[in-house]
Amino acid sequence: MADHYNHYPLKHFAGIVADCMGIDLPEPYAPGIDWVGDILKRRLGGPADRVVAYHADAVGHYIWQQYTSLLAPVYEHTSMALPFLSTVESVTPVAHASMYTGLDPEGHGIRTYVRPQLTCRTLFDELIDMGKKPVIIAQTDSTFLHIFAGRNMPYFECANAVEIQEKALELLESDMYDFISIHTFEYDNAAHAYGPESKEALNAVAIEADGFDRLARMMQTFKGKHRTLLTYSPDHGQHPIAGGHGAHGSKMIEDMNIVHFFGTIA
Ligand SMILES: [Zn+2]
Repeated sequence: MADHYNHYPLKHFAGIVADCMGIDLPEPYAPGIDWVGDILKRRLGGPADRVVAYHADAVGHYIWQQYTSLLAPVYEHTSMALPFLSTVESVTPVAHASMYTGLDPEGHGIRTYVRPQLTCRTLFDELIDMGKKPVIIAQTDSTFLHIFAGRNMPYFECANAVEIQEKALELLESDMYDFISIHTFEYDNAAHAYGPESKEALNAVAIEADGFDRLARMMQTFKGKHRTLLTYSPDHGQHPIAGGHGAHGSKMIEDMNIVHFFGTIA
């Protein structure tokens, strides 16, 4: 059977999230997806005033297909699974730049594994200009800390997925931030080292899913006070390579197809 690539490119991510927040992003951002926004906004009952965007790096569509139960903690708090197609190249800076600029790689200029500070507009810039308070929490040397640097917003760097969870819980509890963007790559690291379906890598998927669960539970305590949009949003997948390792960056289906989960707490 031929490879089937997922339909929606990642560049719709910013538009979907903004739509749920009641923000109309200008050109050249790719728009949201109408039916997705309609469903999520109906569940929110009004514009989301909190967004928790959880980016578990490199968790591919086939990991979801083959190890579905590992994502039970994500299912617990989400109501929509949306297949996405990663960028060419299927590497973190290219993909995350597309997600937050709403642009194809040729538009934002990051087309391979380089990590310049983006000079074009990002969802973070739009939020800041509207007086909203975004924050980035990311693992040490995360792409987020490079390409989204230089904005008037706080950046927190943590050593591993569990430290990220602790910091994110603290920031969510503080109720100071409107948009919490989290980048964790325990799975990516383990999949590169031991292979995408190794027990080490699958354990990392579980650790990161558990982190999503903890953050969602925290936001449940704000139910009635905030309308929260949750997203579990990987950037690309990984494929196995010789020596029991993993890699990505290609147009292979394993690298390109991913799935995002969206949830609402209102
Ligand atoms: Zn990687």
